[in-house]
Amino acid sequence: MRPAALLAVLFFLANSSTTLAATKAIKFGRLVDGLGRVVTNAVVIVQDDRVQSVASGNPPIPNGVEVIDLSRYTGIPGLIDAHTHITYYWDGITTPRSEPPRHPAVRAFLAQENAHKALEAGVTTIRDLNAPDGVDLAMRDLVNIGKMVGPRMFVSGTAIRITRSTAPPAPIGIMLDGVDAVIRGVRQVIASGADWVKMHGSTGGFDDVTQFQTFTFEEMKAAVDVTHALGKKIAIHSYGPAGARAAVSAGSDSLEHGADLEDETIAEMVKRRTYFIPTIDHNQVYVEHADTVFRFTPDAKERLRDYIQRNVDTARKAFRAGVRIVMGSDAVYSGWGLNTRELDWFVKIGMTPAQALKTATTEPAAMLGMEKSLGAVAPGFFADIVAVQGDPVADITAVTRTENVRWVMQAGRVVVDKTNQPTARP
Ligand SMILES: [Zn+2]
Repeated sequence: MRPAALLAVLFFLANSSTTLAATKAIKFGRLVDGLGRVVTNAVVIVQDDRVQSVASGNPPIPNGVEVIDLSRYTGIPGLIDAHTHITYYWDGITTPRSEPPRHPAVRAFLAQENAHKALEAGVTTIRDLNAPDGVDLAMRDLVNIGKMVGPRMFVSGTAIRITRSTAPPAPIGIMLDGVDAVIRGVRQVIASGADWVKMHGSTGGFDDVTQFQTFTFEEMKAAVDVTHALGKKIAIHSYGPAGARAAVSAGSDSLEHGADLEDETIAEMVKRRTYFIPTIDHNQVYVEHADTVFRFTPDAKERLRDYIQRNVDTARKAFRAGVRIVMGSDAVYSGWGLNTRELDWFVKIGMTPAQALKTATTEPAAMLGMEKSLGAVAPGFFADIVAVQGDPVADITAVTRTENVRWVMQAGRVVVDKTNQPTARP
């Protein structure tokens, strides 16, 4: 597949409303700016794709500036979902495991539905961790040049796995064994244009909640070192304690999933400032959609529920210990649109709503190395802003119930506007 051909196809198919009004003034009854301030009667001035200023107390608005009155709502920074699979598209008919082979351009086109569901949930940035055929790279670039409407993407290309006899549902990863092969594979992924490297350090995924370590510590260390040497970051997946211990001591930038983590691993994560993306809710989505979408065997739900409980216990321990926790939905197929439900779990493990919001704003922004551009509504930051019904600092469901997300701006462009629709609840 020639990337140029894919681009040509998508150019004509994508939403092409790319014109930016030069300057906009957005009024909010209250603005939670992401940097710890709550601004009342806020006016946010947006110039092209960036926030120019934030002021309070209904300041005068310069003549000729487009005014967007959202004073009924609370403004928050655009949310970041740090673990997604945007190319895993569900057509509503086939099961994910029986989906037909798809041309990369078809996959990219269909994935726009997932992109739109993310925006409707208030998610304006994602870190996408495993996609086939460079589809994630193409989507990232299209979003960045304004030719595809979707969340800003940081992508890993295709994930790295060990050789295994049974393939997971498509898309599979690049299969590698041994330090030399891992080094070559990581270099290849980065050379293809990936922002992150994704490595599967254990078994586990879908209805499989096994926790066997796959890559050795030496292989993980080699992957981490070569990734860092090339100026990139790496995310290592581990469903269980052994892979997690190896991933953390190898220096992985983030640890994905993770139940039953040992106290020593948690202590090491605090010391090394390893980001933890527990992805609790994705197994809940599997439970809820087990019969209708995924068609798991009848015993799967019990297994998934048991894993969720251990996942929650580990996340609570990690939070109490001071690990940097980040929101990741692990959204696949029918999980798109439910991206922020993870924050409900974070409140359940003891976070305040404000702390939970940080896991989807400033913390992942820092993880991505974008702390000066993403995760806050402040001068110089990207104009990624969400208007929600209610007060998310008092009640996180103002964010996590998608019907409360009324309006979304990304990079200065309004991408969701439900301000004229009746509200779902008082
Ligand atoms: Zn995942």
